[in-house]
Amino acid sequence: MKIWFLTGSQGLYGEETLRQVAEQSRRIAEALPLAVEWKPVLTDAAAIRRIMLEASADDTCAGVIAWMHTFSPAKMWIAGLDALRKPLLHLHTQANVELPWSSIDMDFMNLNQAAHGDREFGHIQTRLRVARKTVAGHVSDPYVAGRVLAWARAATGLAEVRTLRLARFGDNMRDVAVTEGDKVEAQLRFGVSVNTYGVNDLVEAVDAATDADVTSLVKEYEELYRVAPELLGERRESLRYAARIELGLRHFLEGGGFKAFTTNFEDLGGLRQLPGLAVQRLMADGYGFGGEGDWKTAVLLRTLKAMAPGGGTSFMEDYTYHLTPGEELILGAHMLEVCPSIAAGTPSCEIHPLGIGGREDPVRLVFDATPGPGVVVGLADMGDRFRLVANEIDIVTPPEPLPSLPVARAVWRPRPDLRTSTEAWLTAGAPHHTVLSTAVGAEELTDLSDMLGVELLLIDAGTTTRQFAKELRWNQAYYRLAQGL
Ligand code: MN
Repeated sequence: MKIWFLTGSQGLYGEETLRQVAEQSRRIAEALPLAVEWKPVLTDAAAIRRIMLEASADDTCAGVIAWMHTFSPAKMWIAGLDALRKPLLHLHTQANVELPWSSIDMDFMNLNQAAHGDREFGHIQTRLRVARKTVAGHVSDPYVAGRVLAWARAATGLAEVRTLRLARFGDNMRDVAVTEGDKVEAQLRFGVSVNTYGVNDLVEAVDAATDADVTSLVKEYEELYRVAPELLGERRESLRYAARIELGLRHFLEGGGFKAFTTNFEDLGGLRQLPGLAVQRLMADGYGFGGEGDWKTAVLLRTLKAMAPGGGTSFMEDYTYHLTPGEELILGAHMLEVCPSIAAGTPSCEIHPLGIGGREDPVRLVFDATPGPGVVVGLADMGDRFRLVANEIDIVTPPEPLPSLPVARAVWRPRPDLRTSTEAWLTAGAPHHTVLSTAVGAEELTDLSDMLGVELLLIDAGTTTRQFAKELRWNQAYYRLAQGL
């Protein structure tokens, strides 16, 4: 995906000034922390409308950055902004950092007018109710560059979810409320298409995997993980069957163009194991996943993985608490399905019984999550709209080893503290399934939610339960009004 870089000006300045505008604008574009496609300086309404139509129609264009180096009378931008269907970032910058106090003359003043040129542009965007992110400062400032980069990541996530295809194997878990949702509204709001397939369609693909492919995949497991001796000895057939599930699942997903999927332990058809290892490895390769048919969390996971393709993002579930006063922690895990891209060390590949599902013991990767700052995000359907809730967290090394816990896990301290965090989370009606990420932060999530027009409630170091309750009430009113008739 590409970001286009647009520069506004007007014909009034003459060729020499416009040549300088173009040259300096190129330098600003090159100084950004991402590859952008620089476009020729815009000086009239027809060219502005044309480039906005082109950006909107180009599937490789994720978003548009606009900067008014000089003064660009903003009525020229009305038709173009009205036509734009891609995320917009208004970069309020200028070519120089310091003013050349001793040499500044009217030529310099004539050339460097962003201080009022961007004010004219800000006015027309607000007048037209154009959603955008505004970033002010020189591009050499890492804080400014970081904010632009966060927006570009969010735009990449948006482009991904707009065309995402998700396969559900079976329905969601019986009687569970929060994993339900309006799939038509999701397709309108996010773009994702969510469809269900009979689990035996998957079983067919699993059974079709060849013995030779299974053998070479098992060899890969032995190279990548610490494989339990029993899985290389008397229980080798279980490991081979786990590999067979991975091959079948990959084949099915690649064949259908799916980048996200769900499973449900209540609906396994002819599968002999609940998919554990296979799901973990597919997540590490960038696939979105949700357990118990949770397609909303699978959509969110794929979107965040597209925003930060280097890993560090996983399906997660708040499981159990450490409530010692002053040391409160959350232990997050799932039955099996935590992504090894968050693992602190080499995962160990193990086999253990599973109390649910009523099938053979499933193979899984076991590890602790890498310590560091991160975020957990949940997506809920509130009946009339979707709601995102995020909590900034600090993942920690578990205070003690967990030798008897046969699943991958993350232990974290929620900000500002466990009591405030959980009271806010519960008051918001946010889900127990989440996406945990150390690669995507609050800024990217804020930009993404703005692009989607979906509410984001952020629980961070500054949250108080009182203020959070008020924000919920205000948002309730705002999102009703913003929906229109
Ligand atoms: Mn679950």
